[in-house]
Amino acid sequence: MQSKYLIVGSSHAALEAATAIRLIDADGALTLLTRDARLPYSPTILPYVVSGRSQPDNVVLRDEAYFKDNKIAFVPGADVVALDPAQSRLRLASGETWQYERLLIATGAAPMLPKVAGLKDVPFHVLRSMDDAINLRQAIGQARSAIVLGAGLIGMHAAENMAKAKIAVTVVELQPHALAGYFEPKASAIIERTFARNGVTMLMGQTFQSVQRQGAGCLATLADGTTVAADLLLVCTGVKPNTGFLDASGIETDAGILVDDLMRTNLPNVWAAGDVAQARGFWGGKVVNGILPNAVEQGRIAGAGMADDAGVQPFPGAVPLNTYSFFGQQAISVGRSGGPGSEVAEGGSEDSYRHIVLKDGHLVGIATINDFVDAGIMWQLILRGTDLSPVKAEFIANPQLTGRRLMSQLWR
Ligand SMILES: Cc1cc2nc3c(=O)[nH]c(=O)nc-3n(C[C@H](O)[C@H](O)[C@H](O)COP(=O)(O)OP(=O)(O)OC[C@H]3O[C@@H](n4cnc5c(N)ncnc54)[C@H](O)[C@@H]3O)c2cc1C
Repeated sequence: MQSKYLIVGSSHAALEAATAIRLIDADGALTLLTRDARLPYSPTILPYVVSGRSQPDNVVLRDEAYFKDNKIAFVPGADVVALDPAQSRLRLASGETWQYERLLIATGAAPMLPKVAGLKDVPFHVLRSMDDAINLRQAIGQARSAIVLGAGLIGMHAAENMAKAKIAVTVVELQPHALAGYFEPKASAIIERTFARNGVTMLMGQTFQSVQRQGAGCLATLADGTTVAADLLLVCTGVKPNTGFLDASGIETDAGILVDDLMRTNLPNVWAAGDVAQARGFWGGKVVNGILPNAVEQGRIAGAGMADDAGVQPFPGAVPLNTYSFFGQQAISVGRSGGPGSEVAEGGSEDSYRHIVLKDGHLVGIATINDFVDAGIMWQLILRGTDLSPVKAEFIANPQLTGRRLMSQLWR
């Protein structure tokens, strides 16, 4: 089989690249190969599938008509297992091979499992694919107690869903606080208190020493020797880029596939974008920034480059952005929480929080809880390097209003 443009993956980066290609080249053969057996969906919807708010069949990002209308061949159930760049060829698990002129790797990331004695012998769940979400929803229906290992965004989302389903939930997190990668301890403490008030046991600064099967569930022994038993175990201890199938390809990787500012890898005619790619960080170095807006932007740049779009703009650098709702409350985190030479303005109350980081009059980061700011506007202020010096006091006092006013003048 062959295709002028070949894309591996069918999620945000892949779909955005396909759109960008079709804007320039309406007819060139374009194929999406994806391991998933379903029409494309966003992993961000999975917590809502787990809670039952969304149904698996109602959440497709593109339907069959879209692929037909845009002359895109969509090939589900295609698990790519090897890349031979010398022959411009991919091999699938089925043995089938695909020849390309231009290839995009948009294979995202997969759950990373911790090294815990006994883990491989107990039944446990992860949450990255639609099948994972459906399995977890079924298991929740039968469980009365659960352990969530890892208090990142995915673990905390799942813990909330399970608590709302009247399951006794224990969250075990190695870091001293929940969501440590996103919030400062004061903010995390607000989130932890909210979970505790809603009946979730939060064991921070703790980890599994070992785990063993107990009936249909598990018994975990923590590092301090205490034990926790549960019907259901969910492991949410981070993700790693899906690069295993590239091992013998000669592609350069570090934490992910290394790309330049146009999402090109070191291999000729091979691009990478999204959670699998390690690209320019806004404050230097190369980073994997596993968020949806990043995958969309990188996919668009890669697709434009693959189709020789003369107007393709380089990637400006990754800035973290996360919005998180918990028990009817809202948390937002954009950019960094500190850094050399930066100044911090903090505010808040018992149940709210605001943390603004500025450097040389420029916004470096902002995190709030129950103090709404538009994350997209803050993201743009950082990316555009907007000088806030003339309005600094005003911005610290009211980032939302000041940011909106500034962006209404800058947005083009
Ligand atoms: C539960 C959950 C909640 C999230 N919530 C948020 C949020 O609120 N905000 C936010 O910004 N981000 C969120 N994220 C992260 C966000 O979903 C990702 O950043 C985004 O999906 C990355 O898109 P991607 O296209 O790079 O890769 P992915 O979405 O990971 O898709 C990878 C694609 O590659 C395919 N694939 C993988 N390996 C192969 C192979 N060998 N052969 C063929 N196909 C393959 C997969 O089937 C899939 O189609 C969340 C993630 C999860 C799991």
